Order: sequence, then C-alpha cells, then structure tokens
Amino acid sequence: PNGLTIEQARQESARAYELDRKHVFHSWAAQATLKPMVISAAQGSQVWDGEGTRYLDFSSQLIYTNIGHQHPKVVAAIQEQAAKLCTVAPQFVNDARSEAARLIASHTPGDLDHVFFTNGGADAVEHAVRMARLHTGRYKVLARYRSYHGGTQTAINLTGDPRRWPNDTATAGVTHFFGPFLYRSQFHATTEEEECQRALEHLEQTIAFEGPETIAAIILESIPGTAGIMVPPPGYLAGVRELCDRHGIVYIADEVMAGFGRSGKWFSVDHFDVTPDLMTFAKGVNSGYVPLGGVAISQPIYDTFAQRAYPGGLTYSGHPLATAAAVATITAMEDEGVVENAARIGEDVLGPGLRELAAKHPSVGEVRGLGVFWAVEMVSNPQTREPLAPYGGGSEGMNAFVAASKSNGLLSAVNYNRLHMVPPCTVADDEVREALGMLDSALDVADGYVS
Ligand code: PMP
Repeated sequence: PNGLTIEQARQESARAYELDRKHVFHSWAAQATLKPMVISAAQGSQVWDGEGTRYLDFSSQLIYTNIGHQHPKVVAAIQEQAAKLCTVAPQFVNDARSEAARLIASHTPGDLDHVFFTNGGADAVEHAVRMARLHTGRYKVLARYRSYHGGTQTAINLTGDPRRWPNDTATAGVTHFFGPFLYRSQFHATTEEEECQRALEHLEQTIAFEGPETIAAIILESIPGTAGIMVPPPGYLAGVRELCDRHGIVYIADEVMAGFGRSGKWFSVDHFDVTPDLMTFAKGVNSGYVPLGGVAISQPIYDTFAQRAYPGGLTYSGHPLATAAAVATITAMEDEGVVENAARIGEDVLGPGLRELAAKHPSVGEVRGLGVFWAVEMVSNPQTREPLAPYGGGSEGMNAFVAASKSNGLLSAVNYNRLHMVPPCTVADDEVREALGMLDSALDVADGYVS
C-alpha cells in the first residue's frame, strides 16, 4: 500500500530499525532489551511490518485511529492546510481552529461549548485540573484506582495504576478511591446494583473524610480504558454528578480514550446521560494524524475566566494542521456513519464473538466492553479468578498468549492480564471475524496455562 516493492520496504525498514535502536529513546520501555516492530505501511484496520507481513490493527496504535489508517479525506485536508497555511500561533484566529471548535462543541453534551486546545491528552488533564482549582479555590483532586490520565506530572499522579508508582513524587492533594468493577469487586458486591450503590457510598465517605471544602475536582474516565475497559453500572456516573453538585466539586470526565466514537457514541458519558463540568479529549478527535487534544468547558467555568485571565497556554494550542485534521475527521465520521458502525460492530459482531470465545476458553475470566472498546480478562484459574499475569507485570503464560496472537496476525493492546480488542470504529465485519479467529487459536495457547 505504500507504493514500495517488498525488497525496497525491507531495506528501508532495516535502516529505520538500526537507526531507531541507535538513537531513539522509547516510552515505557527498558531501552536495551526492546525489540520494537517496524510499521512500513497502513490502511484502514490493517498494517504491514518491515517484512511486508500484514496484521489486523486491533490496537488502533494506542487506541486512537478511530477513523482507521490513511483516511483519504483526512490526508487530503492535512495536505490542503499545509499548502495554505502551516502554522498560526494561538493568540490569532485561524479558520481550521474555529471550525474544529464549532464541530466539537456540536457533539459535546450540555453546555460544554468552549474548547481549549492542547497537544494531547495529558496536557488536557493538566489544564482541566488547573481550571478546576482556579474555579473553586480548592486544591485536592480525587481520582480512581484503575485509571490512566497521562504521562505528565499531575496526570501521572492522578493515574490509579502501577504506571504511577515510579513517578510518585510528592504531589500534594491527590487522593484515590475505588470505582465500580464487579468482576473484582472491592465491595464484596454480587450484583451491578450493589456494586453501584457501595461504590457511591465509598466515594461519599472519601469526600467526607478528605473534607469537601478542600476538593476542587473529581476526575473519572467515564469508561476506564487502559486500566481495563470497565463499563460503569447504570446510575454510577449520575451518582458522581450528584455528589459533585452537592459539594461544589468540579466533575472532570476524561474522554481521551473513550471519546469520539470508541464506545459506539460520540462520548462515553452519552451512555449515562451525564454532563460533566469539564471534559478532556484527544486521540479520536482527529485519529492522531496530527497530535491534538483539548478541554471542553462548561459555562460556569468559562465565566470564571471571562474577566480574569486564564493563566495557562501552549505554543501549538489549536495548531492549523491538527485542527484541519479534526475538521475532516469529525465531518467524515458524521457523513460515513462511523460512530453508528462502532456501535453495531460491538452489538452484533465483536461483543457476541468475544462472549463465545469466553464460553469456550477457560483462560478467559470475563469479556466486557461497548462499541469497539473491549477487554479480554485473562485468568490462570477461572474459579479463583487468579490473573494470568500479576497486577503491574507480565508472566510466561500471558507472554506466550500475546506472542501467539501476534504470530497469527493480530495486533492488540495489552496491559498486565488483559488483551484489549480495540479496532478502528470503521472496522468491517469480516475483519472482526478474521481477528476473532486469530484470537481463538491464541487462546488455545493461554488455556495451557490454566490450572
Ligand atoms: N487520559 C486517558 C484516559 C488516556 O487513555 C490517555 C492516553 N492513553 C491520556 C489521558 C493521556 O493522553 P496522551 O498520551 O495523549 O498525553
């Protein structure tokens, strides 16, 4: 698909790999032991490695190519914008940025009608927290265990996952609480209703003991992503909204991963009929073709900064290439029914297919998700629910399973004992069926590690 012969692609890839290992310092990795895969071409839900081998990209890279790779309208929009005007600084008006803000505001719930643009998700979280602190005059932020909010300092301190541990220097004012997760309930609940009620009681107690008048914000991924794709029970987010209203706390919904179609709706809060005060987004807003993120801001928080300057900004806020890509992405998603496709795939193909695999393979503890946002929770013992890999680490069984799925041609996202099936929202039915077949035979390998 990239116009090269296999031989040319091999030569290019070999040189890219050699230079990468010599000069590139990679994220989240022990540098000397890393063997990263070369991607030489990509189209839709497929990618090709440096040898010309095809894979189904059910990782969506880092769960962001919601519109698939190389969508022609988005590629053309970036090219047109580059030819017209590559860069305009944030203190000036630019048509791509204005139009992107209008389109985003047309899909955000309630009064989230103003957009502050960032370069990605973590800095959106940083700014949302800063806005909440200045708006309330309070400093604490409550975040969930089993969450991820980004790699910058405040965002990683908010993260409720082992990725925080090595970064856990003294950041004042972050308190973690448990959210609902019935399969591994912290509350000894046996039904969704119990889990919901007890998780809300636990949050209420956390607020009471931290002191409501010290709490600026509660930040929540509406559907936690890399921490396990745990769809909250009905009523949980509405309960959080009510607690925030009761105590004057800003509700920040982190929609960086779950937003822009991934859950089968424009935003995952839309499943629960809840409007947060601030909403962070990135990834799917332009499918990561050019880095972009942002914060959607409600009217009362906008009003805080109507007469008083907002003390924050970024050189590339609302960059023309990134926002032109967002305009083309959102327009194509509207015109081509991309969000509807994600919902239908989840309901009719991917969800039922994964449930069938869960029934067949003892190594699958649970599958859960919505749209094109699914987790396969792997266990070494289905009765005790012992994870196939420990929290925060890998294991021989998990590694063998992931290696088998990759050698079958499936790229997925993997965290500890979970394999996440997160294809683009544009994925076709037959691609999902093909991926399920690849997963099925990899699960035979994982079953060998079940006791
Ligand atoms: N919030 C959530 C929910 C995320 O999933 C991520 C990225 N995986 C981030 C924030 C951080 O985004 P970025 O990596 O673009 O800074």
